[in-house]
Amino acid sequence: MEFDVVIAGGGFAGAYCARALGGAFGGAEGERRVALVSERNVLVFQPMLAEVAGSSLAPVDVVNPLRQFCRGVNVLQGTIQKIDWASRSLTLDGGRFTRDHRVGFRHLVLALGSVTDLGAVPGMAEYGWPMKNVADALRLRAALINRLEEANLVEDDATRARLLTFVVVGGGYTGVETAGQMLDFIRQAHRFYANLRDSVPRVVLVHSRDELLGEIGPELGAYARGVLTKRGVEVLLKARVSAVTARKVLLADGTSIEANTVVSTIGSAPNPVVMDLCRQLGIDGGKGRVPTDPTLRVAGIETLWAAGDGASVPWIDRGEAKTSPPTAQFALRQGTLLGRNIAAVLKGGEPQPFRYRYMGQLATIGERAAVAEVFGLHFKGFLAWWMWRTIYLAKLPGTMRKLRVMIDWTFDLVFPRDISQLLPPPEDVVRAIHLEKGENLFVQGTPCRSFFFVRTGSLTLSSPGLPDRAVATGSVIDQMELDSSNLWESTGTAAEPTDLVVFRGRLLEYLRRDLRLSKRA
Ligand SMILES: Cc1cc2nc3c(=O)[nH]c(=O)nc-3n(C[C@H](O)[C@H](O)[C@H](O)COP(=O)(O)OP(=O)(O)OC[C@H]3O[C@@H](n4cnc5c(N)ncnc54)[C@H](O)[C@@H]3O)c2cc1C
Repeated sequence: MEFDVVIAGGGFAGAYCARALGGAFGGAEGERRVALVSERNVLVFQPMLAEVAGSSLAPVDVVNPLRQFCRGVNVLQGTIQKIDWASRSLTLDGGRFTRDHRVGFRHLVLALGSVTDLGAVPGMAEYGWPMKNVADALRLRAALINRLEEANLVEDDATRARLLTFVVVGGGYTGVETAGQMLDFIRQAHRFYANLRDSVPRVVLVHSRDELLGEIGPELGAYARGVLTKRGVEVLLKARVSAVTARKVLLADGTSIEANTVVSTIGSAPNPVVMDLCRQLGIDGGKGRVPTDPTLRVAGIETLWAAGDGASVPWIDRGEAKTSPPTAQFALRQGTLLGRNIAAVLKGGEPQPFRYRYMGQLATIGERAAVAEVFGLHFKGFLAWWMWRTIYLAKLPGTMRKLRVMIDWTFDLVFPRDISQLLPPPEDVVRAIHLEKGENLFVQGTPCRSFFFVRTGSLTLSSPGLPDRAVATGSVIDQMELDSSNLWESTGTAAEPTDLVVFRGRLLEYLRRDLRLSKRA
């Protein structure tokens, strides 16, 4: 497939760019000349994801099908594996059955945003719930409900308290909004659980800076902290998470929080596909933001353009030269201008520079309260919350979605939030786990539910009356450590911070069967 323009990425920047190009060419000509390539066939309205996690909006309320939103362009759903600049083409995986499609282009738009990399904090990739797309929000919602269900079952106070402790890492607007929504949801849902009436769920917001909401400024950040604290969120400022395990969040000051649920709103990292292209072109991609000129063209390359979170776009803010911040309001405006610029260039015209008068920022803090900075004025409380809802409703693309959201929000004012569990429990047969020194992997005499491969670190196996044994990196812990009733013969404890791969579920059954067969043979 060959196109005049390929737009890589169907987020705010890419979708609005495609919409502008579709409008400029339209119908069959647009579909022949312009392709929008995106991992998913929907535009996600990310500022409302926290409401999906908190069950106040349905997932379909916050997405818009790209094929309907960007009429007049060819939408190709697939994951870009590589962009090869020399051949002006990219390689796309459509899914499990269709890999390695080649899509050629004359002009390329980079609108791939950033990716989430939780690897910087040990254990975060294994236990931290990211909040980037609808699937993340739905999984988090399911996790919250599962924790309530489990807490309702257990009788041990410490286990119940741990199940009912929810830690959010990062005090930017995603973290603040998520913490507020989680608290609203858990508080409302909690009263339907007969065994939990006397227990108080905890939401802890951990932030490394000295005030929340650095994007909005210290005054509104302090106000948001005051409201959240009054409502019961424990806000820890100047606190850094140093490791996460299945049962606790360790902080850099040596303290820890016993919790089974950790949401990570940190860890934004450069998109690897973009960084690879930068290497091919000898461009300094900075921290994942490709530098452009004011017309959104990548400096020095006529046919390469970039917009949104993955672009470093010069911006004049009230006379002061700045770089556009990575927010939705910039991404969608840059996308629209970029679509118009490319259409102009293809028709022999001149591209225009990016100009935008910054409107401000808004963040909800739950229970009908928000903070807003609009044209330099500060609003807080109910008025800011009402502004948040009105502005986002106006920005939400599509009349049908606007109506749905209005209905959902009206219901949310009157009825309790939905606690139906929609997702089945995860059945990941292979998963990674992290243990801190001293944590048990398994206890002697308990049934075996998994086998393990030690990726990094080491463990000690102790059985009464026998010398301890060390299990080093690269070792496997399997049926050799079990008695004839499939119970562990020893207790396995991490001798240092240790990462393991766990084989469980159906895979464990297959392994056990194969091992039985090989023993018989
Ligand atoms: C939870 C959350 C809340 C937010 N709240 C606000 C807010 O209140 N206000 C605000 O202004 N901003 C907010 N933001 C930030 C805002 O959403 C981003 O600035 C904006 O989405 C950036 O748009 P983009 O198009 O550059 O990138 P994205 O929206 O990230 O889009 C990138 C697209 O590229 C696709 N992609 C990536 N890699 C590949 C690949 N290899 N192959 C194919 N497709 C790929 C992705 O699937 C995605 O569709 C929030 C972000 C999050 C995560």
